[in-house]
Amino acid sequence: MFNYWSKLGKTRIGGPARPIYYEDFMPGRYIKKGITFTTRGCNFNCPWCLVPRMEGTFRELHHIEPGNIIQDNNILLSSKKHLNKVFDMLRKEKSIRFKGGFDCRLLRDWHIEQLRNLKIKELWLALDYENRFEVFQNACEKLAKAGFTKDQLRCYVLAGYKESIFRAEVRLKFAYKCGTLPFIQPYRNSKSNKDEYSDEEKDFIRNWSRPAIIKSMMKANK
Ligand code: SF4
Repeated sequence: MFNYWSKLGKTRIGGPARPIYYEDFMPGRYIKKGITFTTRGCNFNCPWCLVPRMEGTFRELHHIEPGNIIQDNNILLSSKKHLNKVFDMLRKEKSIRFKGGFDCRLLRDWHIEQLRNLKIKELWLALDYENRFEVFQNACEKLAKAGFTKDQLRCYVLAGYKESIFRAEVRLKFAYKCGTLPFIQPYRNSKSNKDEYSDEEKDFIRNWSRPAIIKSMMKANK
């Protein structure tokens, strides 16, 4: 693509699909209107995740751009000072979606207190490890107690990383039973594409991607 455009004039490579990051970003440039980032990077090293390699270690962005879709990869690593600035910005927003996903290990009571005063549409968690059931369940219980519903509490569930994709069903069902609406995230390395999945795997992915199907499967499973 670069070769093609460079024949037509001066061409630069960048944007969210490239491993080139600027410390700040311009809302609406390369990404959907409403999306904002207030931090970059992550200090953990989950083996399937590209964030530490592409963005480096965690840091807070100096300037907080307004937006109702917070796409930070691990925002709860932020200092209290930074998060309070983010919450202040969000008080003016509606239909707020924390799409980057909260790390349940880092969720504290004061975060929940702040979150319950915001107009939240979706708050995403993650359940990628089977040995995190307890911390995940605790976070869900606290969020439910604060008034968050299953339709607000969403949960990414990684599937197919060094295991059969169907193994994720244990975590998908657990996430549902804890009061979240799970969403399967099939692991894709740089070579894999949709056509590599069998029909059975494609059905499994489709079923665990659609809230209406998930709800009816879980109802039938009771
Ligand atoms: S999966 Fe989340 S916690 Fe793990 S390295 Fe990636 S951003 Fe960090």
